[in-house]
Amino acid sequence: MKIAVVGTGYVGLTTALLFAELGHDVLAIDIDEEKVKKINEGFCPIYEPGADELLKKHAGKNLKATKDYDIEDRDLIFICVGTPSREDGGMETKYLEEAARQIGRRLKRGSVVVVKSTVLPGTTEKLVVPIIEEESGLKRGEFGVAMNPEFLREGLAIYDTFHPDRIVIGELDKRSGDALEELYRPLKAPILRTSIKVAEMIKYASNAFLAMKISFANEIAILCEKLGIDVYEVMKGVGMDHRISPYFLNAGAGFGGSCFPKDVKALIYLAKKLGYEPKLLTGTLEINEYMPRHVVELAERELGSLKGMKIAILGLAFKPETDDIRETRALPIVKELLKRGARVIGYDPKAMENFKKLVPEIEYAKTAEEAISNADVVIIQADWEEFKNIDFDSFENLKLVVDGRRTARPKKVRYVAVGRGD
Ligand code: NAD
Repeated sequence: MKIAVVGTGYVGLTTALLFAELGHDVLAIDIDEEKVKKINEGFCPIYEPGADELLKKHAGKNLKATKDYDIEDRDLIFICVGTPSREDGGMETKYLEEAARQIGRRLKRGSVVVVKSTVLPGTTEKLVVPIIEEESGLKRGEFGVAMNPEFLREGLAIYDTFHPDRIVIGELDKRSGDALEELYRPLKAPILRTSIKVAEMIKYASNAFLAMKISFANEIAILCEKLGIDVYEVMKGVGMDHRISPYFLNAGAGFGGSCFPKDVKALIYLAKKLGYEPKLLTGTLEINEYMPRHVVELAERELGSLKGMKIAILGLAFKPETDDIRETRALPIVKELLKRGARVIGYDPKAMENFKKLVPEIEYAKTAEEAISNADVVIIQADWEEFKNIDFDSFENLKLVVDGRRTARPKKVRYVAVGRGD
């Protein structure tokens, strides 16, 4: 098939690589000239394990990147542009609208437009389709429309895209659903065909549920600290129940990333617009907002005032195996530390350059060891594999390790972790 993917971020690029690997002819479109250039030269513009190799294999062959919307000969056009949060928590639609306008101007009769970006229920039919109709002069039915939410995890994006738990296909017309079903058949994943609105809501409900599991574990963690018990032991027992599952029950500094916070906020915004005050969703965010402060308070509980203390924060990305710093919990932790007059030294294996742009005022170390050897306190914010092998006991100046991700095991150095009541 001839496929276009509009937007080559984490979702768009991974999607383009999947279709290229399945043998299709893929055109990746982005407004970012630098990204387009890198992709065509075979250099991955994002850090994502496995993406480099696939890009080298397909770039310039059956995967080409461009700034131009040359979509006239494309059978399927996937929209994968960002839908970030607005100031009021609602969903920003300007990238989506622009992509729809550009697609509409060059769309040929019979092509299928697929929204893969996460969009609030109603967006595809009430916003994207009308723009395409107006720009193309075609009516829905003369072009196909589908909504195909993406569930990948950053850091595991390639694996998840090739091994999805399920493929959700929301369809306006059967022909579009059939085309997507045929496209995804080689992945041998369960396929769920629904209406467009249901597909849109499945994505939000999934993310909100996972975020809620994390906040739930964090709420129980705070209770466990007060009770002198360990939330990880508790959640091990809880997660053995197959109705609950052991995933997303890890207490810590809270969730970040480009999806959970913005998607829960957008759902809250939508609920309020519909006249309902959501309680679970609001609580999920409130607990998450509190957790970075809780991490800093754990350090204060152990050492008293942090004024003038040198504090190394390990892990600046929102989680390991990514350079993505969107909504990273490292940011509120650093802000809390600076507010208390601490001196902060940051380190991350991949996300340092991105974080530096956001917070230029702290110090940065070239290695985790360099950060720790200059610090009184270490806060672990993201559980990168390399942190697991650090011998914290070998650093003479180190007074305390605060573990926001349950990754360290020092024997001598004082150690506190979220949800570990001792
Ligand atoms: P991203 O910010 O990494 O990438 C978006 C890309 O779209 C950028 O490269 C940008 O330059 C490009 N773009 C913006 N406007 C454009 C236009 N008019 N034409 C062409 N390109 C344009 O975003 P992402 O993380 O890949 O997320 C994309 C969507 O997928 C969002 O709706 C997000 O919620 C959803 N999603 C993300 C993830 C994730 O883990 N990142 C997972 C599932 C779903």
